[in-house]
Amino acid sequence: MSVNQQAHTGPPYGQPQPGYQGYQQPAYGGQSLPGVPQAQYGAYNGPVPGYQQPVPPQGYFPSLGFPSKGSPVSLNSDTSSLAPNFIGSLRAPPTSGAPPPASGASHPSGHLAYSQFEHGDVQNGIPASAAPMQRPPASQPFLPGSAPTPVSQIPTFQQYGAPPASVQQLRNHMAGMTIGGTAASAPPPAGLGYGAPRPPAMPGPPLPGQTVAGPPSSQPNHVSSPPPPSTMAGLHPGPPMSGLHGPPPPTHPPQPGYQMQQNGSFGQMRGPPPNYGGAYPGAPNYGSPPGPPPPPKRLDPDSIPSPQLNELPPQQKPRHRIDPDAIPSPIQVIEDDRNNRGSEPFVTGVRGQVPPLVTTNFLVKDQGNASPRYIRCTSYNIPCTSDMAKQSQVPLAAVIKPLAALPPEETVPYLVDHGESGPVRCNRCKAYMCPFMQFIEGGRRFQCCFCSCVTEVPPHYFQHLDHTGKRVDFYDRPELSLGSYEFLATVDYCKNNKFPSPPAFIFMIDVSYNAVKSGLVRLICEELKSLLDYLPREGNMEESAIRVGFVTYNKVLHFYNVKSSLAQPQMMVVSDVADMFVPLLDGFLVNVNESRTVIASLLDQIPEMFADTRETETVFAPVIQAGLEALKAAECAGKLFIFHTSLPIAEAPGKLKNRDDRKLINTDKEKTLFQPQTSFYNNLAKDCVAQGCCVDLFLFPNQYLDVATLGVVPYQTGGSIFKYAYFQLETDQYRFLNDLRRDVQKEVGFDAVMRVRTSTGIRATDFFGAFYMSNTTDVEMAGLDCDKTITVEFKHDDKLSEDSGALLQCALLYTSCAGQRRLRIHNLSLNCCTQLADLYRNCETDTLINYLAKYAYRGVLSSPVKTVRDALINQCAQILACYRKNCASPSSAGQLILPECMKLLPVYLNCVLKSDVLQPGPEVTTDDRAYVRQLVTSMDVAETNVFFYPRLLPLTKADVDSDSLPAAIRNSEERLSKGDIYLLENGLNIFVWVGVNVQQGLIQNLFGVSSFSQISNALSTLPVLENPFSKKVRSIVDMLQGQRSRYMKLIIVKQEDKLEMLFKHFLVEDKSLSGGASYVDFLCHMHKEIRQLLS
Ligand SMILES: [Zn+2]
Repeated sequence: MSVNQQAHTGPPYGQPQPGYQGYQQPAYGGQSLPGVPQAQYGAYNGPVPGYQQPVPPQGYFPSLGFPSKGSPVSLNSDTSSLAPNFIGSLRAPPTSGAPPPASGASHPSGHLAYSQFEHGDVQNGIPASAAPMQRPPASQPFLPGSAPTPVSQIPTFQQYGAPPASVQQLRNHMAGMTIGGTAASAPPPAGLGYGAPRPPAMPGPPLPGQTVAGPPSSQPNHVSSPPPPSTMAGLHPGPPMSGLHGPPPPTHPPQPGYQMQQNGSFGQMRGPPPNYGGAYPGAPNYGSPPGPPPPPKRLDPDSIPSPQLNELPPQQKPRHRIDPDAIPSPIQVIEDDRNNRGSEPFVTGVRGQVPPLVTTNFLVKDQGNASPRYIRCTSYNIPCTSDMAKQSQVPLAAVIKPLAALPPEETVPYLVDHGESGPVRCNRCKAYMCPFMQFIEGGRRFQCCFCSCVTEVPPHYFQHLDHTGKRVDFYDRPELSLGSYEFLATVDYCKNNKFPSPPAFIFMIDVSYNAVKSGLVRLICEELKSLLDYLPREGNMEESAIRVGFVTYNKVLHFYNVKSSLAQPQMMVVSDVADMFVPLLDGFLVNVNESRTVIASLLDQIPEMFADTRETETVFAPVIQAGLEALKAAECAGKLFIFHTSLPIAEAPGKLKNRDDRKLINTDKEKTLFQPQTSFYNNLAKDCVAQGCCVDLFLFPNQYLDVATLGVVPYQTGGSIFKYAYFQLETDQYRFLNDLRRDVQKEVGFDAVMRVRTSTGIRATDFFGAFYMSNTTDVEMAGLDCDKTITVEFKHDDKLSEDSGALLQCALLYTSCAGQRRLRIHNLSLNCCTQLADLYRNCETDTLINYLAKYAYRGVLSSPVKTVRDALINQCAQILACYRKNCASPSSAGQLILPECMKLLPVYLNCVLKSDVLQPGPEVTTDDRAYVRQLVTSMDVAETNVFFYPRLLPLTKADVDSDSLPAAIRNSEERLSKGDIYLLENGLNIFVWVGVNVQQGLIQNLFGVSSFSQISNALSTLPVLENPFSKKVRSIVDMLQGQRSRYMKLIIVKQEDKLEMLFKHFLVEDKSLSGGASYVDFLCHMHKEIRQLLS
């Protein structure tokens, strides 16, 4: 394949890397095109260095400065007065919540069966009262809060019902003072460099859960100043306060607050959290004058509980045990955010606003910044200088989901057509027209908000300005008033300066012995007969423009001619797999409607043709090559759906050997388990990306098949992998078919290139996700679907200013399912700060964890896992130590003080550290780890949230008369009662755990059997029984399935049964069998690390 030279003469996508043939490839068919005048993506220029300071966008002000506050987490045992002051704050079932993610669960037979996840629903439901948001009519100005209007800011806050700023500030000020000067936020000491952003592995002390020996002698029995009413400081900074006193959404009657915790895990009574709890806005005492300071609380690392504590009767527990209720609870934080922020729309008109949590249902109203469904940031207020950023160690990253699905109440991005000359852009940095561009000279020119360059307004785009300097057509143009919109791309944005053809889907089915015998081949063929009527189509089009083709294979490939004029399909066999070619052009890719009868006939015949096959060996790379060549020949982009069962050991390019070796775990060679065994697939992936050939892989392994290698092409082409270990028709077909249906139907863009531009001072330096990069700026994806995220990290290259803030513009060029070339633009403005406290006050821990997990999961490709784990711990300790040192009030070193926005960082970080990739249990296979590693890399924030900290619901507490979910509880065995049934989901699996003392009536109602012992844990679905409890539980399961992008595997677990081990793996607050620390132990460990850094 020759590399052609003419391609990138223009400004386009930056510098091609040597060796990459990507978009420079000669035209299809291997012939060089006569000098293509402009690079295919000519218009997409790289930024030019040396920008000037941009002019502050009009109307943007830094958001109100609330004093910072910390959460003194006092862990202490002798807290005796625990009153359930949480009552009433638990409700708001995640009616739709955001979707999440995954993890592996094992198969009843003891094999892990990671399967599904992804997300899918960013669709957060909305309160019934919320009106659907529409873009206002052209003549009608946006409501207060609209983007660039200075005044908008305050009204926006008011909308949330927050107290007037002055009151708010006073409250926070008081709160801040109580905990001792957190509000002050003194300037960071200059010399406190915590080292490079990526600390090399610093082997920290062993995790407490593992080896923690005696108490550190240095630990005085400090008594810190009372952290008292301070707890009020726990308020979220921003608008969210509002919901505080508001009535809960009508549909969610209050659930019994923390009661389920009290029914005590196997007997133990648990009190309400000590003062810590009061810190939350949801606490009833909010708003009342601070009471007398509670007794001093402290985190005392000396009081690390012994592992067997849970087995002791309560009265025998050592007095100094840290009460798990006294440490920050994810459940509480999630509930508080739902209560405070779920009832009002999130209006994006204000710079640097921290959005509600991903677990909160909220409606988004675009008023100039991209919805958090498209972009979430680790912090919405970023340090002005690189030194400050390094000092804090808080990574600056954005998790971007460019094609995210929206709930029906929200408007999809408008399509804007700027005519033949294409979208209006900055002359220098090529940023696209957006709400932050500043029009000057009566509207004849505009100054770029990213690079400050002044560009002439093209005559056809000219418009007068009003007295405020705003174009009079401001509200008529999405690109001037909204954060997200699309441009119709011109031919300049097309490969080879030619508008693309509609994409194609090619179904490639393994017909080797295992696939046939398991019934898989027949199942797929049957399903395709109906599924092909549901290919993605654009808008109101009557039929999909996507063409389809079919291939079957084992050691050889079979192509099918399904041309509409044929009476019967024709098969063509290619047995020379060494140099793959496509034996037919005409009749291979067809329109479904035109070839309907021929296709149906083919799908009927395939299972019969191979019914008696004895061929057990398969090839793999030639299958991808065949699909790639077919797309090349048809001059289109597309997607391959490959259904594959085994390690490809047949003689062919890309042949693999079994190299699984669990003995490598915990050695320096462990990383090889995650690396592909040959570079062959990396090269193949490059070719696929160049053609816009995306690969989705459905795996049905009965043994090791080297996911790390087979996954390379799907991963680098923006595709997905689905895995059904030990596939059995009866138990797994429903799950597989659901995944397949969704995968075929979901929104997807092809031949995509994404670039993130930033205003002067920061720039995108690192990228995580399923894509390919041929240079340092452009993220290329053969396909990008609505579930995929790309995570971008930013670094400073200059100083930022508080006045101008920082801007991001994400531009995604792609081909729609109808073959239309488009640009989707997302803009986001962030605040900048000179005080560390402002940074810590505007962080988003869920996004931070998403980033850290991806960073760590990439790290295992090149470093020993232990090194990666230690680096994670160290970085987080530095983040928290920097806060302690610079933002928190001076107090005893023995007191652990966490930033309010990061109080869950330790518990979530511990979940990442204990995950199968970083600390595998004995039952986790090498393929499972490679699979999960790749999955997590493309997950959005909602997915990683539930993947790492699963949702645990007490089903027996569900109200059968309401639509709501029972209130979630913390992931610990202590919270389970033998008399109840629980559901745990993580985006990949749903467990239903049944206690040994569950009433017989409940068992009868749910499982249709008369006793605990008769419950079969081979069930893959719950029996359909006509009683309220069964209906309720099944509706909950269906609701959760609907929220996830992958169909979750249902696993029934009986208490004290052997499968319970698997279930306990997901009780992430407990110590794990693979050595992972409990939450309490890990928090103590983090505290020690922090104290070490401070001393
Ligand atoms: Zn510019």
